[in-house]
Amino acid sequence: MKTIKRHEWGARAPRNRTPLTNSVRGVALHWVGVKVTGDPLKIVKGIQTYHQDTRGWFDIAYNVACSQDGRAIECRGWRTRSGANGSSKLNRQYAAILCLIGPDQKPTDEMVDAVRDQIASFRRVFPKATEIVAHGDLQATACPGGDLKALLEIGAFDPANPPKHGEAPVVSSGYPLPSRILKRGSSGDDVRWVQHRLNIKGAKPRLVVDGIFGPRSMRAIKKLQKNNQPEAGPIDGIVGPKTLKILRRGSTWQK
Ligand SMILES: [Zn+2]
Repeated sequence: MKTIKRHEWGARAPRNRTPLTNSVRGVALHWVGVKVTGDPLKIVKGIQTYHQDTRGWFDIAYNVACSQDGRAIECRGWRTRSGANGSSKLNRQYAAILCLIGPDQKPTDEMVDAVRDQIASFRRVFPKATEIVAHGDLQATACPGGDLKALLEIGAFDPANPPKHGEAPVVSSGYPLPSRILKRGSSGDDVRWVQHRLNIKGAKPRLVVDGIFGPRSMRAIKKLQKNNQPEAGPIDGIVGPKTLKILRRGSTWQK
């Protein structure tokens, strides 16, 4: 998708710039950290004003920003070092992608797609810089939040891993991938992930994505397990590693 250029959001000129060079290793993902509402272009403009006027920086700190509606908004661009990672060393090593969400806001599929596209565009400039990290991997910070971190862990932002129909990983619901055994009585956002995946795989009746692992979720898991023998293991309605693998893959009940 087309990137929205600086002049389209009324960016002020940078006061100065330091080029990003081949010592860059990859990109770091960030979030806003407070709830984001309203026009993404105005939000980006507001962040620039804050960074230039209040923080005294050269420019908005990030290289690009991605919105929940799937827009990519140019900030410093790929050729300029970011100011967002917390130190000049880290800014030399990583470009910074801002996701326009805060706590309690889920990354949408559109946002995930936009970030992945931006990483592909970054790699066209720096083909060897293939790392994708969370800001929290570099420094002690909650940025960019649990949902983006979970998506990062399963490779959702990797341009080499496009979500093709019928191939894993197709996980861009924004819910965190389970990292524990889930069964009847479990609850949480990782249960939402399971319910969302079951619906994508055609669960009938469709499940309410409420994060509560009840009898309907259990029946749907059993049916999935039954349809994927023997690799699903015992038909017990429990989401362990084998069932998780099946949930992550494809988009139908078939293999
Ligand atoms: Zn950050």
